[in-house]
Amino acid sequence: MKPLSERIKRISPSRTVQLTGVIENLRRQGRHIINLGIGEPDESPPQAVVSRTVHALKGGQTRYGPVSGARALREAIAHKFNGYTAQNILVTNGSKQALYTALQVVCNPGDQVIIPRPCWVSFCEQIKLAGAVPVLVDTKAHQLNFEAIESAVNTRTKMIIINSPNNPTGAVYPGDVLGKIADLAIKNDLYLISDEAYEAFVYDGWTYNSLFDFPHVRDRLVVAGSFSKIHRMTGFRIGYAAAPEEIITAMARLQSHLTGNVCTFVQQGALAAAGIDPSEFDRWRNELQKKRDMTLEILGDLPCHIPRGAFYVFPDVTGFLKDGESAEALATDILQRAGVAVAPGEAFGGEGHIRICYALAENELVRGLEKVVHVIKQRTGEKAT
Ligand code: GLU
Repeated sequence: MKPLSERIKRISPSRTVQLTGVIENLRRQGRHIINLGIGEPDESPPQAVVSRTVHALKGGQTRYGPVSGARALREAIAHKFNGYTAQNILVTNGSKQALYTALQVVCNPGDQVIIPRPCWVSFCEQIKLAGAVPVLVDTKAHQLNFEAIESAVNTRTKMIIINSPNNPTGAVYPGDVLGKIADLAIKNDLYLISDEAYEAFVYDGWTYNSLFDFPHVRDRLVVAGSFSKIHRMTGFRIGYAAAPEEIITAMARLQSHLTGNVCTFVQQGALAAAGIDPSEFDRWRNELQKKRDMTLEILGDLPCHIPRGAFYVFPDVTGFLKDGESAEALATDILQRAGVAVAPGEAFGGEGHIRICYALAENELVRGLEKVVHVIKQRTGEKAT
């Protein structure tokens, strides 16, 4: 038999998504697992979203729709972007598909794409799938290192990906640094992707800044947005891209051969979500901020930059690893000994760290964190003996 493509041989599976399968298997074997590994809120979606989706399904909205998405939904999304209309929006199967499609549309083989590290698991693999080359640039205390990004730019650089609030670190990037990135893109004729899946999750009174705030860069910017996290609709698989019409038209051309439209009745659920008053979200944001604080307190001695956004903490565990051991091995040990899943930092190019998602019910979160700390302490004792 002839081998599978070189392209797929170079791609690793998503370590975050993979974790869900591992946990499901363990649960099937009867183990109680607390999942702090996957980035997913454990609350149900808003009732308005569920009712509208069910209503659309029962009402027969089950057929093909326009590739780019239902007009009303595109208009509702466009509302968030000053000067944009439905023509600037593509509804996608999660922001994951928006990112994938944008990279396919912008990159040629051999182009370089700069990503600040640590970064979300799928960026590198999606870049490789586009035939391009990921160029990882280290952050400084999880904040963008502008000088390092600037020095990584060369004639082959095509794009920079910015993700704020950041997955996995929870870092929020201030407007002045984003402004410098915008100017850098203009100066070197680069495209930009702004992954804004966590835009609403910003704490401590910090304000959220987007690359879209810089009008001079909009003609080269793709914003990827998501309904998954903000509206707790992860399994619905719905997100969007907001970009100049030319880019959206090209992305829709690709999507027409890939998936066609996003599930018709799910789009109706998203339309209900788009109509929810943002103030409804405040209660949940406050709760998450409390859970973040609680998480940092329970983790105690684990060094960790205070995350100002998203719903992750990304502590440094190097001091708790045995000689030559990886954070991945630690994560496996925690899962085996304590039945708690955490994501290994290696999945995000953040060796020596683990990612913990705190968007869980409080009792489950506290129990899970206490078990993590217990295993780490046990191991410290073992190391000493
Ligand atoms: N984005 C979430 C995470 O990082 C969900 C899984 C994924 O698509 O990566 O855990």
